Amino acid sequence: SAAPLGSSVIPIVNKLQDIFAQLGSQSTIELPQVAVVGSQSSGKSSVLEALVGRDFLPRGNEICTRRPLVLQLLQTKKKGDGTGEEEWGEFLHLPGKRFYDFSEIRSEIQAETAKEAGGNKGVSDKQIRLKIFSPNVLDITLVDLPGITKVPVGDQPSDIEARIRTMIMSYIKKPSCLILAVTAANSDLANSDALQIAGNADPDGYRTIGIITKLDIMDRGTDARNLLLGKVIPLRLGYVGVVNRSQEDIMLNRSIKDALAAEEKFFRSRPVYNGLADRCGVPQLAKKLNQILVQHIKAILPGLKSRISSALVSVAKEHASYGEITESRPWVCSKHGVSLFIGICPPVVIWFLTKSPHFSSMVEGRN
Ligand code: GDP
Ligand code: MG
Repeated sequence: SAAPLGSSVIPIVNKLQDIFAQLGSQSTIELPQVAVVGSQSSGKSSVLEALVGRDFLPRGNEICTRRPLVLQLLQTKKKGDGTGEEEWGEFLHLPGKRFYDFSEIRSEIQAETAKEAGGNKGVSDKQIRLKIFSPNVLDITLVDLPGITKVPVGDQPSDIEARIRTMIMSYIKKPSCLILAVTAANSDLANSDALQIAGNADPDGYRTIGIITKLDIMDRGTDARNLLLGKVIPLRLGYVGVVNRSQEDIMLNRSIKDALAAEEKFFRSRPVYNGLADRCGVPQLAKKLNQILVQHIKAILPGLKSRISSALVSVAKEHASYGEITESRPWVCSKHGVSLFIGICPPVVIWFLTKSPHFSSMVEGRN
């Protein structure tokens, strides 16, 4: 199944990467990391999985994520003959071993978690690093973090809460980190660990998206309309409400595709969410993230442009120093003429990309 995250940003990023490849420089478009924070069992891992569109993360109603999982999505190129469609995972601690079966990836995460954090609910700040190679993803890094817990259980030390908070902060305090602050709809938003810790890391709220999970299991007679409208706790980038798979769905092996269909049906059949379509559902969350990524790319374009311009200036200088020789045979077959051509092209293409209505409509039009 195609990954909803990044689908509309991929063509733009690819185009820019191609330009830089022509210039002989490595990818210069560094996208922000995305980290999920919140209380234990609020649905963080479920949200990440739904965004990636694959089942591979340990999820459950007790502590599952016990080490930070740094998940690097890497785009592979589809080949002209239609091959190159395969998707696989590779762990840093098992170099060269390709996991084509995503349920094996989950088992490996569990085994590797137990190795470092013990078998009895211990938590460790040592990362697990996993790369997912796929033709359908954007080159972006997602971080799944252990949830905030208050009461030590199993082998957890008495200061477990402080330790987990410090670990989470070390990721989300970076100004380049986008924060998905996850709160379950059946808990009190005013008590949200997610909003509290995100507020510490990002007081102005420029990089925090609120996510309300478990809309399907709210107390009867209550709904999340005011939460989603930001009337309870305002958030600059707003909220998205989602319905992920329940524990029963997980035990019944319900697929992500079915879950997305069920989510859509849920929102369609609840009049209270009428008119809030842009804040409801995983596809909307993906769209919101895509828009933020496009804003980010727009913001870094001037810097890229000036780098190219200065490269252009130095090529032009070099070109001038060959004055006499090149004047007699201007441009033609000249190595420097070619460099100049390559130097001029990218700024024009980048300018065109930013001006083109296509650029924004790609993200604003559809999911
Ligand atoms: P994490 O600890 O925050 O990573 O939470 P998980 O993603 O592991 O989810 C915790 C439990 O909540 C699992 O049993 C999930 O099936 C369940 N869950 C997560 N999101 C939802 C939701 O939107 N609706 C329902 N009914 N259950 C959910
Ligand atoms: Mg988790």
